[in-house]
Amino acid sequence: MTTADTLLQPHLLSDTVYLLSAEGGNVGLCAGKDGALLVDIPQEAELSRIQAGVDSLAPGNLRLLVNTHAHADHVAGNVLLGDDMPIIAHTNTRKRLKTDQRITVGVKAFHPAQPPIAWPNLVFDQEITLHLNGEEIQLTHFPQGHSDCDIIVWFRNANVVHVGDIFWPRSFPFVDVENGGSVMGLIQNVKKLIDLLPASIQIIPGHGPVSDVKELKKYHRMLVETTDWIDKQRQANQRSKDIAQTMPDKWQSCGKAFISTDAWVDLVLYSLGDSDRGTT
Ligand SMILES: [Zn+2]
Repeated sequence: MTTADTLLQPHLLSDTVYLLSAEGGNVGLCAGKDGALLVDIPQEAELSRIQAGVDSLAPGNLRLLVNTHAHADHVAGNVLLGDDMPIIAHTNTRKRLKTDQRITVGVKAFHPAQPPIAWPNLVFDQEITLHLNGEEIQLTHFPQGHSDCDIIVWFRNANVVHVGDIFWPRSFPFVDVENGGSVMGLIQNVKKLIDLLPASIQIIPGHGPVSDVKELKKYHRMLVETTDWIDKQRQANQRSKDIAQTMPDKWQSCGKAFISTDAWVDLVLYSLGDSDRGTT
């Protein structure tokens, strides 16, 4: 049996809600007598392992797919499952997947337009509520933050929420500043989440282990403090490379994951209006 055929073990978070820690990102799962709902699929190659994990709980009954936003490492399952079930997402996720996606600030990436089968076909603008397996599942849009189509998927009874890439615990986040995202918008959205969520909730971020409101508050503080600090250096006419190199030690560890300190400085400068000041 190859790795691809093995079951991705569901990690139980409540009676009906699970986390599947797939290669490349977190998959949320609500499974039970009504069938299964998945939140995000990071890679096409992971689908067979995810499917095996779902089948171990709700055999042959995968019914709904939700996208937290349009980035490629969250919508990879759309093209594989779009024929078989509704794909639910924010209106802008559908718009983004219909066109080429190019990213040059913070990271470099190009994702060609997806075929129609991969476009979400059940879209909403602000909020929608689903009822499945005794769960009340609230999907809410958080505009112009990590991207322009971020939603949270809140399992109200389970006290679990999947927040996609709004939350990068202990790390600098990627922000899609060229395609409707903004660092300042992200900071506002994180504050909104802190005010909204109960202190006891389990938070599934887009990547990494399950987290909590305490970590979300630390993340918010880091975003506010580093953005203010970068802005001050900018006003003192520091170059972006120098800003990254002199970043205080207490934040350096946040640049050891996907987004480096150099990349974070570039993303903040772009959001502050300095779109022509790259690191090179
Ligand atoms: Zn993303």
